[in-house]
Amino acid sequence: MNAGDRPTVLILGAGINGCSVARELVLNGVGAWIVDTHDVACGATSRSSRLIHGGLRYLEYGDFRLVRESLAERTTLCKLAPHLVEPLRLYIPVARRRGGLLQSASRFLGLTRSKMLSRLTRLLQRPSERGLWTVDIGLWLYDRFASDPETPRHSVHDLAEAGVPRVDRSKYRWLCGYSDAQMRFPERYSVSLLADARKIAGETNVDFRLFTYSQAEFADGSLRISTAAGDVLSCTPPLVINATGAWGDLTLGRLHVPSQRLFGGTKGSHFITYQAALKEAIGSAGVYAEAADGRLIFVLPFGGAVLVGTTDERFDEPPERAVASDAELTYLLSTVNQLFPDVHLSRTDVTLTYSGVRPLPYAAGGAEEAISRDHSVEVHAHHGIPVLTLVGGKLTTSRAFGELVADEVLHRLSIARSATTVARYVPGGECVPRDRAALAQRWQELASQFGLTVEQVRAMWALCGSRVAEILETQRIGDLDPACGTSVCGSSLPRIFVRWVIEHEWVQRIEDLVERRLMLVYEPGLSRRTIGELADLLAEAGKLDPTAKTDTVDVAVHRIETVYGREIPA
Ligand SMILES: Cc1cc2nc3c(=O)[nH]c(=O)nc-3n(C[C@H](O)[C@H](O)[C@H](O)COP(=O)(O)OP(=O)(O)OC[C@H]3O[C@@H](n4cnc5c(N)ncnc54)[C@H](O)[C@@H]3O)c2cc1C
Repeated sequence: MNAGDRPTVLILGAGINGCSVARELVLNGVGAWIVDTHDVACGATSRSSRLIHGGLRYLEYGDFRLVRESLAERTTLCKLAPHLVEPLRLYIPVARRRGGLLQSASRFLGLTRSKMLSRLTRLLQRPSERGLWTVDIGLWLYDRFASDPETPRHSVHDLAEAGVPRVDRSKYRWLCGYSDAQMRFPERYSVSLLADARKIAGETNVDFRLFTYSQAEFADGSLRISTAAGDVLSCTPPLVINATGAWGDLTLGRLHVPSQRLFGGTKGSHFITYQAALKEAIGSAGVYAEAADGRLIFVLPFGGAVLVGTTDERFDEPPERAVASDAELTYLLSTVNQLFPDVHLSRTDVTLTYSGVRPLPYAAGGAEEAISRDHSVEVHAHHGIPVLTLVGGKLTTSRAFGELVADEVLHRLSIARSATTVARYVPGGECVPRDRAALAQRWQELASQFGLTVEQVRAMWALCGSRVAEILETQRIGDLDPACGTSVCGSSLPRIFVRWVIEHEWVQRIEDLVERRLMLVYEPGLSRRTIGELADLLAEAGKLDPTAKTDTVDVAVHRIETVYGREIPA
């Protein structure tokens, strides 16, 4: 695993953190092989609430370092990946002037992080909603930590004001507005990091490879990789990085690396609805509100839909088993109906659900929401090879976490850092017009140039930003048959684009395409026919045996029904 005198490390896990570390290392001349037992971003990365946030709640726990870092990263990501990370205004409904100060203070003093004290404080304090003063102090601090002149500061609104979410007027008196950001597709962000790493590696002759649906294990002092293609590769990397998130302990076990328990994941579930009344009630903003038990829930715009989450329950099973339970759904639905009693949201309005496990550090007791969301690196060694395990982290801090891990690796390999990602655009983030009119104009130009509709360009742009032009140019659209410009059934994505994705974005299975490259699992128009057309395109690219098409479509439909609880029409 050496390209010339450059070492190549082995990264296990292609979630947002594994991808971030790989890009950071390759940029600094260190090769990276990434092995994932499934697909890019198929773990917590695609099961999150998709917010790029400072973590207002963490202020109550006194996690000031984390809040400051998260807010700085929020600003950085909005600049470097504006096609994938967009500012979002959120509102907190408030019913009373006073309240919640005692609970906030007990969280701040760390009482909720101890099992016994947590029970005691819960007994002594009835749930008391955070009042206007408590929220205002928190948001004032949040603005101070952000110290970002371009981000609008917090504000207090009367419920009758135009442009604010229409929460229950009989219960609430004010709405407190503040700024955060949303990364609608962390799956696309992760793939973009890999694309950047591949590009840098190609330009600098550094070794970079990704093996999805593959396994790595120690064998006779080296590592053996069994790939999806059936090959077995052997390597002796100077370092192994365990970036397998909530699977981290299981991975160490499989590698026979002795370790104490590092992870204590909690499960979080979400649902997505296209119900028009709720969409209208929140408008283009998000709502961050207390449920009846004092936990905080997000109601967020998600393209043409609304995303609601999340729960927070200890989960000791293998992370891939996490699915949204009936109890979680009932809890989320009732919270939404308490906030917006006029929308009458019901189970039949839920289009799909998803659930994931947070890779949190193990904590024997205390409240789930009190477990720190900060990140750290644990070091072990096996057969003389150091194994660095990434514990914790968030989407928001993934770039900074990647930087921290790369510093540790560079230090261990005695290599000086030569470059940083702090000002490096994520592919597709370059030349993105900043105002909506200029962006619409750019889409119009691309549509005219390539003979597509604006809607088709917009759909591709949502996935890969300004790379759309480069992608369409490489496909030499004029030379192809007219069907290439038509969209895949139930979406606005042209077939020509899908072909490019299949060829360039490490697609192995149909579920990679539907769930994590084209993001069609979240599209209202997804049908069996859509999946059939994608299967044809995969077969055309030599990635699917045409005789296996019907079975493949059946399996994909069944997976969406069981994992996402989404019914797929014919
Ligand atoms: C419910 C929920 C809500 C969240 N909301 C937010 C939010 O709004 N904002 C935010 O910033 N963060 C949020 N997070 C946190 C964030 O999603 C995670 O911290 C982050 O995605 C972790 O990324 P990761 O790369 O470490 O792990 P993962 O994304 O879980 O990736 C781990 C990868 O390792 C692979 N793997 C497993 N075992 C092996 C093995 N033996 N060998 C090789 N590969 C293996 C898996 O297939 C997977 O692809 C949320 C998380 C959850 C669960």
